[in-house]
Amino acid sequence: MYQVNENGFYGDFGGAYVPEILYSNVENLRKHYLEIINEPGFQAEMDALLRDYVGRPSPLYLANRLSEKYGCKVYLKREDLNHTGAHKINTTIGQILLARRMGKTRIIAETGAGQHGVATATVCALMNMECIVYMGKTDVERQHLNVQKMEMLGATVIPVTSGNMTLKDATNEAIRDWCCHPVDTFYIIGSTIGPHPYPDMVARFQSVISREMKVQLQEKEGRDYPDYILACIGGGSNATGAFYHYLDEPRTKLIAVEAAGKGVDTEETAASIRRGRLGILHGAKIPIMQTKDGQVIEPYSISAGLDYPGVGPLQAALAKTGRSQVLAATDEEALTAAFELTAIEGIIPALESAHALAALPKLTFKPDDVVVVNVSGRGDKDMDTYVKYFNQMNQK
Ligand SMILES: *Cc1c(COP(=O)(O)O)cnc(C)c1O
Repeated sequence: MYQVNENGFYGDFGGAYVPEILYSNVENLRKHYLEIINEPGFQAEMDALLRDYVGRPSPLYLANRLSEKYGCKVYLKREDLNHTGAHKINTTIGQILLARRMGKTRIIAETGAGQHGVATATVCALMNMECIVYMGKTDVERQHLNVQKMEMLGATVIPVTSGNMTLKDATNEAIRDWCCHPVDTFYIIGSTIGPHPYPDMVARFQSVISREMKVQLQEKEGRDYPDYILACIGGGSNATGAFYHYLDEPRTKLIAVEAAGKGVDTEETAASIRRGRLGILHGAKIPIMQTKDGQVIEPYSISAGLDYPGVGPLQAALAKTGRSQVLAATDEEALTAAFELTAIEGIIPALESAHALAALPKLTFKPDDVVVVNVSGRGDKDMDTYVKYFNQMNQK
């Protein structure tokens, strides 16, 4: 019911709005992606890499102290334990295998905080492919460690100096590159965004998260579905992966958590479902934070992975139809949740994932409720931010 239609739409959202020069390229991908990713040989190679290289299945951990605190059973889906520290590797592995089968020799990607850039540079090293990563100059300066990792992995990082020099500008530049090299180049997109078939393709690669959850919950709880799944949303890929096999399971409530920044009603926010208006960005019709004249507003969040000015078409449709409930967590709520998880469970989450955790105190649970929080990544990359606020918040 929530699957993409032939034209790439989920209800009102999605589609493929691409310049003429990319049309045949995107069309070629659309025609072949399902056939390729459903081949037994493709799936065997992908499953082996997910197991032996990424370290899947990621554990589903019953967090006892967190459960006690929120009066229900809280499980954490540990995407933070994946190779490269987040869920993004699930889709970069899938896309590079697809690129190879389509005869592509050159990989491009965009990155904001650098997590997707690192995951892409990693699989390019693994598969011996040329890798070019576009990254806003501001982000290059803010996320220097990830730039160094990408370079050590053999990628070329190109700082983008247009616009605000952040993720949106890096994405524009990657699309421009793709237009110049439509034949040999595969564009690896890091989230459930971009023109059809990207959102569906990324959703399928990330769906391994909920595929594993079903098996793990059956083992631990004797039923394969939870009562709640909580996930943060930037473009929507980790949430989509965590929700995917439960989209048609009415017993499971899906909670998507946006980054409120300083507050959803302030000018410094990344709550693009609440604040967005329908428009076209990066090849898809989605809710976008924009001015009256349709200029994209630079989003703000303490977490670099959540400050995309739009949201992917499936997550937009789930919100609109009421299949998901959309909450928002502020910077401060996310920091509090991150410090809490660290103190009582010994797990330092990514700032993005901390937004999902910050939804726990906003919901009311029954003691038997089974709640899964998708911990999309680990906090190593956020240590500078955590250190800055840790003493400050403990003194309050
Ligand atoms: C990139 C990122 C996100 C946000 O992207 P989605 O596509 O919405 O999942 C969330 N968590 C982590 C750790 C990330 O690196």
